[in-house]
Order: sequence, then C-alpha cells, then structure tokens
Amino acid sequence: MVENAYTIALQQFDKAIRYLNLKAGIAEYLRTPKRELTVNFPVAMDDGSVRIFTGYRIHHNTALGPTKGGIRYHPSVTLDEVRALAMWMTWKCAVVGIPYGGAKGGVLCDPKTLSVRELENLTRRYATEISVLMSPQGDIPAPDVGTGEREMAWIMDTYSMHCGYSVPAVVTGKPLAIGGSLGRSEATGRGVMVTTLETLKRKNIPVEGARVVVQGFGKVGAPAAYLIAERGARVIAVSDADGGVYNPRGLDPRNLLAYTAAQGTVVGYRQAEPISNAELLQLECEVLMPCALENQITAANAPRVRAKIIAEGANGPLTPEADEILVDKGVFIIPDILCNAGGVTVSYFEWVQDLQSFFWGEDEINERLRQIMVRSLNQVLRVAHEKNVDNRTAAQILGIQRVAEAVLIRGIYP
Ligand code: NAD
Repeated sequence: MVENAYTIALQQFDKAIRYLNLKAGIAEYLRTPKRELTVNFPVAMDDGSVRIFTGYRIHHNTALGPTKGGIRYHPSVTLDEVRALAMWMTWKCAVVGIPYGGAKGGVLCDPKTLSVRELENLTRRYATEISVLMSPQGDIPAPDVGTGEREMAWIMDTYSMHCGYSVPAVVTGKPLAIGGSLGRSEATGRGVMVTTLETLKRKNIPVEGARVVVQGFGKVGAPAAYLIAERGARVIAVSDADGGVYNPRGLDPRNLLAYTAAQGTVVGYRQAEPISNAELLQLECEVLMPCALENQITAANAPRVRAKIIAEGANGPLTPEADEILVDKGVFIIPDILCNAGGVTVSYFEWVQDLQSFFWGEDEINERLRQIMVRSLNQVLRVAHEKNVDNRTAAQILGIQRVAEAVLIRGIYP
C-alpha cells in the first residue's frame, strides 16, 4: 500500500496537538492549507507537439511570514504529497526559528525524459502560472527533488522579465553568479551532518569510524555523505534510484560523486560491491541517512533496520508504523523537520543577502547554520524530555506551538 503523505502529516499534527492547549478552531486553522493552486499548462516539445502538464503550488500557513518551500519535478507528485510537504515546511521553519510560513510546489513530470529545452519551457511556463502567488514578499520557492540551480535561475529570470527588472530574492538555491548564497548547495546535507554529529556526541559514539549508510545521493545525500566522511565517519553504503554500492571498509563519497556526475548513477562504481536499496536499509550501522523520498521505511522493513540513529535528510522517509517500531527498538530518530532544515535556513540567508544586496562569507554562513541547527536540536530534545514524547512529536510540538503563538498574537481578522 502506498502511504498518503498528507494523511501522515495530519496524523503527526493530531498527535502533537494533544500536548498543546489549543482551541479547536485554532487547531483546525493550523491543520488546513491556506491556499492551493492547481495549474494545467501547455509546453512546446522538441518534436513540435504540445503537451499539457499539471503543477501545484500550496501555501500552508503565513502566520510567521512569507511562505517558503521547494519545487519538485517527479512523476509521482500529487496534490496530497504537496500539501504534506507544505505543512512540514511550516513546522520546519518554526522549529529553526526562521520567519517564514510553509509552501511547496510540484510538477507531475519525469525530468529524466525531457530535453533541456523542454525542461526550460516547462519551468518558465510553470513559473509564470504560479507567479500569481510568488514574490519576494509573498512566496519564495527553492529546489527540491528533480530541480536545482538551473531551474531556479530560469524561475528568477522569468519572474524578472515580467517585472522589467531583476528580482533575485524571488527564489533561493540560485547559482552564485545571480545572487545565490555561498554554502547553499550543501546546506541541507551540512545540517544533516551537524545534527548527526551532535547526536553521536550525546550518545557517546565516536565519529571516527562510525558507519554511515546513505539512501539517495542527490542534493541532500551527497553533501551529507562527504561532509560526515570528512569528520572521520565511514560511509559504507550509498544508493540512488537505480541501485546502491557497498564497501564495508568505507567509500570515498567525493570520488563517488565525481563518478556519479559522469555516469548519472552510483551503480557500477568500481571501488564497491553492488547492493539493492532494500538491503542497504537493513545494513548494520551507527547512522542511517534516508535522503531520497517519502515512505522508504515502513512496517514491512522497519523491524530489520539495524541503525542506532536515523537522520532524516528526506521529508517523511518513515511511515508512522515504522516510526513506532523504531522508537520501540530504541533507535534515535532525528526528525525531518529538524534534520533537513539546513536547506531552508541557508535559503533564508540567501533571501536576506539578496534583499540587502550584501553578501556574506562562507565561514560566516556555515557557522550561523551550525549554531541554528545545534540550538534547534537542543530545543527539540528538551521538549522531548519535558513532555516525555518521541523526537518527532517534540519537533512538531515546538513548531506548531510557535506558529500558534503567532496566530494568537495577530488575532483572527477581521
Ligand atoms: P535530488 O533529486 O537531488 O536527489 C534525490 C536522490 O534520491 C537521487 O539520488 C535519486 O536517484 C534518489 N532516489 C530516488 N528514489 C529513490 C529510491 N527509491 N531509492 C533510493 N534512492 C532514490 O533531491 P534532493 O533535493 O536531494 O531531495 C531528497 C529529499 O530531501 C526529498 O525528500 C526532499 O524533499 C528533501 N529535502 C531536500 C532539500 C533540498 O535542499 N534539496 C531540503 C530539505 C529536504
């Protein structure tokens, strides 16, 4: 059964608000997406035909500020998936104390089957379609699965062409040359690395030689892998959508990244043995980093997971059943809305730099990011301790509480 991400997001919300004394109407308000836009739009294809694509942009909540959230290009994008991801963005921004609400966008497509020209046509048209919601003050998209710097540059350019002047702050995760931020491309992975190192420290597990397994070797997984390897951990297995590679003596993630850049996949990498994604999730290790998609660890495979720590680089990689099984087994979970918040944090830095046209150095960016991740982890773990709840529920409580506070202080208009 394919789990519905939105049902899961709502279940998590309902569980967390049991610990918060919210009036029913306020809880319902926080539970409901503010705006949902569906767009069906034409794209001129290379063969002269016109294809209609469907895309979404959802703003979940705007109590804390403009909305922020990535844009996903994937064949399995659904309205409910985008709703869930937008809701998680709201709590995520609040957990790390960033003045944004949550949003998400997606286009149902398989970018691997489209030419660069077709992707550009699709991106520029989608950007135009969602421009009724997008602006530096209102909603600032970013990359997600299947999109990256190139797509963000097209979005920035399209929006700017319509305005008649350049508006770098309308989107983050851009190339450096047009107002991107130093450190952004590896920020999510860096946040995963920082929260993992802090957790290892708390659990008295030495980083040196700690075995790390990474599912998904994309914009999150690859930097998480090489950054933690550079701190002395041993990355023993890595996978992508095509399969995985395993070397118990440790892989060289930067070398693997160079291989992947050339080959388009980790599969076939010589300095390792092949391994399936299913086997990879069951490897004995200190840290498992799911950095691919939702619902990778379910009731079916959770009993066989042998990691001590799960660092959720991806959004929603565990189903609620898997969550329960793993918490019962004593696995320490660093929940997604905390663990992968490094991306939105440096996206926020990028937006601030763009608005001020004043750019910061990389060390400053990385250090500010580190401080925010460590502070947020400590705050989440304090809530977990005080309320005697699991880490995910604690993160949800913290995020929801902060947004609820903003709603109550602002009042219900009119
Ligand atoms: P990406 O497209 O750059 O990489 C995704 C990776 O996962 C690819 O290597 C892909 O081959 C792999 N993959 C896909 N299906 C897989 C499967 N079934 N098994 C194993 N690997 C599989 O995407 P990304 O930006 O790295 O995003 C990954 C996850 O992190 C998503 O859940 C996303 O929402 C989340 N996230 C991303 C960011 C960001 O800044 N990019 C920030 C926060 C959270």
